[in-house]
This record gives sequence, C-alpha cells and structure tokens, in this order.
Amino acid sequence: MLADVVIVGAGPVGATLALALAGDDLDVRVLDARAAGETLRGDRSLALSHGARLIFERIGVWGALAATPDATTPITRIDISQAGGIGAMELAAEEQGVPALGYVVSYRALQAALDAALARSRVAVRHATTASSVGGTPAYAAVTLAATESDPVLARLAAVADGTGASVAGITRRRHDYGQVAVIAKVWSEKHHDGLAYERFTPDGPMALLPEGDHYGLVWTATPERARALQAEDDAAFLAELAQRFARRAGAFTKVAERRSFPLAMEYASKPATARCVVLGNAAQTLHPVAGQGFNVGLRDAWELSQIVLDTPRGAVGEGPMIERYLRARRTDRIAGIAFTHGLVRIFGNDAPIVRWPRGLALTLLGAVPAAKRAFTRAMLFGLR
Ligand SMILES: Cc1cc2nc3c(=O)[nH]c(=O)nc-3n(C[C@H](O)[C@H](O)[C@H](O)COP(=O)(O)OP(=O)(O)OC[C@H]3O[C@@H](n4cnc5c(N)ncnc54)[C@H](O)[C@@H]3O)c2cc1C
Repeated sequence: MLADVVIVGAGPVGATLALALAGDDLDVRVLDARAAGETLRGDRSLALSHGARLIFERIGVWGALAATPDATTPITRIDISQAGGIGAMELAAEEQGVPALGYVVSYRALQAALDAALARSRVAVRHATTASSVGGTPAYAAVTLAATESDPVLARLAAVADGTGASVAGITRRRHDYGQVAVIAKVWSEKHHDGLAYERFTPDGPMALLPEGDHYGLVWTATPERARALQAEDDAAFLAELAQRFARRAGAFTKVAERRSFPLAMEYASKPATARCVVLGNAAQTLHPVAGQGFNVGLRDAWELSQIVLDTPRGAVGEGPMIERYLRARRTDRIAGIAFTHGLVRIFGNDAPIVRWPRGLALTLLGAVPAAKRAFTRAMLFGLR
C-alpha cells in the first residue's frame, strides 16, 4: 500500500519530522538502520539554538529532555574574541529577551527522548532496517531495503534524513575540504562556567569552549599535523597549550578527558530534492562546527517540511509543486547557514594581519552597534528567512 510519507533515518532530524507529522491522520512510516534502543554518536554534544528548543517544545520532547539530569546546559552568554588582535564581543540572552542563547544537548539523551516520543506516537517505526536506494516514478517514491527478501516501501514522498544522503541517486553535491581537523575533548576549569561559552579565533583556526554539565566541551581546530601533535601530548602539556590560547579567559584548566579528532569539511546538496524525494538534515548539508549552525539548519529543514506537508492536500503530497514550495521556503535560510559558516571559517581561519585587523573591527562594531549585534544574534538564534 502507498504510504503518504516514508522517512529514511530516525536520527534527530528524521525523528523530528516524524513527530511533527504524527498528529495528523497521514500514513507516516520511518525506517532506521539502528536497532531499537541503540544510539549512534552517544558521545557527541549538539549545539542547539533557542529556535531549535521551540521546535522541540512544539513536538513535545523538550520537557522530558530538560528533566533528564545533565542532558541540557543553557548557554546564557557567548564571549567572542580573537588572539593577538583587537576586538571582542559578548552576546547575552537577557539582551535578546530569551532565557538562553542556546543549549548544549547530549545527542544520546536527545535521541532517547525522540525515540520514546516516537514509540508513543501513531507513527510506524521499523528499526534495524537499512535503505539501500531511494528512487521512484513520477507517481511515487520507492525505498529499496538492504534485506533482499523485503519489498520496497512505496510512498507519495520520501524524506531522507540518513546523515549522508548516500542512498539517493541524482543529487549533485559540493564539497569543500578545509584541510583542518577538529580536536574535541572535555575540559574542566577551576572556575564554573555559569552558562558562559567562549568562541576564540586563533592563528590555528577557531576554537570554542561550550558549557556542558560541570565542564566545557572543547572544539579546537588545527592543521592535521598540529592536531596529531595535540593528540599525542600528555594531559598537562595539552592543558598548558590550551591555557596559552585562551589567555586565562575561562580560568585555569584542571583536567582534560576524551580527546578525539575528526577532519573538517563542508558538503551540501546543490538542490536537496529529486522527483518525490527530499533530503534534509546532515544529508542535505554538513557544515563546519564553528558557528554551531549545522544541526539547527537541519532541524529547520524538518520543521518547514512538516508544515508544508500538513498544508498540502493528501493526494498532492510529494508532487512537483509541493517539493518546489519546500525548496523555495528553505532557500534563504539554508544558503545563509552555509555561506555564514563558510565565510566565518574563511575570514577567521586566516591569520594574515590585513584580515585580522578588519575582523577585530567587525567584532568590535558588532559589539558596539546594537542593531547589527541584534541582527547577528537573531540569525544565530532563529536562522534567516
Ligand atoms: C564528525 C561530525 C562531528 C559533529 N560534531 C558536532 C558537534 O560537536 N556539535 C553539533 O551541534 N553538531 C555536530 N555535528 C553535526 C550533527 O552531528 C548533525 O547535525 C546531526 O547529527 C544531524 O542529524 P541527522 O538526523 O541529520 O543525522 P544523523 O544524526 O547522522 O542520523 C542519521 C540517522 O539515519 C540512520 N541511517 C543512516 N543510514 C541509513 C540507511 N541507509 N537506512 C536507514 N537509516 C539510516 C542512522 O541510523 C541515524 O539514526 C557533527 C557532525 C559530524 C559529521
């Protein structure tokens, strides 16, 4: 039987889409390669904007998430500065009239809250089910499953949120390798963070300290050689280098744990759709973590798609005009997220003094000019339309 929507991937983005559609009488089916109860990337923390919190409130998962011990840490202020240059800026939640500028959220806790909400909903979820290809005809989408004995799943619309979009043919992707590596770790300081996050632009590239429970989550970008050296250092040497980079802004560092690294690249689909199919979340755009935009842009993909599906007569779900409407609705915010993140890396990842001076000026001006600062903060909080 033809389903209305089949969602490939019930990670944070696919599960959000499913829950946003769950209140209607649509036939929504979800396939996920994970076994029931299994969580991918349990070690990762996600940076959530205030707008993302509002989406989680609307789909009814924020309450459970906020009530889970250590699952969410509010970011109430962000201190943005650069090493060796003028200019610094502080963004504060109270200036924006919001309780927090964003949150650091445990991927594991978020996935558990979404899985539990899905299990309570009327959405049909098939775990341990891997899609091998997504294609179709003008009349329907067909999702072929890796288990050869299973019939394909047919639906008016396939929404692919599998993290890579690897199963969808016909999508042109652009990739930019930054030639940089992110070293991430948990870091403790003698001073409690009190919700203050730090973003610091250094000759190696951008660094961030995000408040997470009783410690900070560190993101340190560096060249691959530098990252290898950082990984090889003992804890005391690593913390000494970190202190030098942060010039004691966050107090004296006392402990580091769980150092890991991954290469940094940006990859995005030029047009995140084919006939009867939309790709969203990381499958549509994987961004550099510097601005904390990637996950938030993906969540807005899910929310916007749900609203457009709910606003479309059932028989027209997945048809060309609906998909075009979705692409138009997401265009500005998506391009802005990609361009903003890429621009930030290009400007702040470059240490030429000629760039260092104007970027210091930009930070100072943003800090001093309330309208510009408000516009910048609102884009970080809610995205662009
Ligand atoms: C290396 C790396 C580090 C990152 N670090 C951070 C960070 O520090 N902070 C931050 O905010 N964001 C970070 N991100 C981004 C963040 O992880 C993503 O924005 C977020 O996970 C996107 O959610 P998603 O639902 O689109 O995809 P995913 O989280 O990847 O979920 C995809 C889901 O699809 C399922 N799936 C995959 N293939 C198939 C298939 N063929 N068939 C069926 N199901 C399938 C998987 O089981 C999974 O449940 C990072 C991303 C990467 C790549």
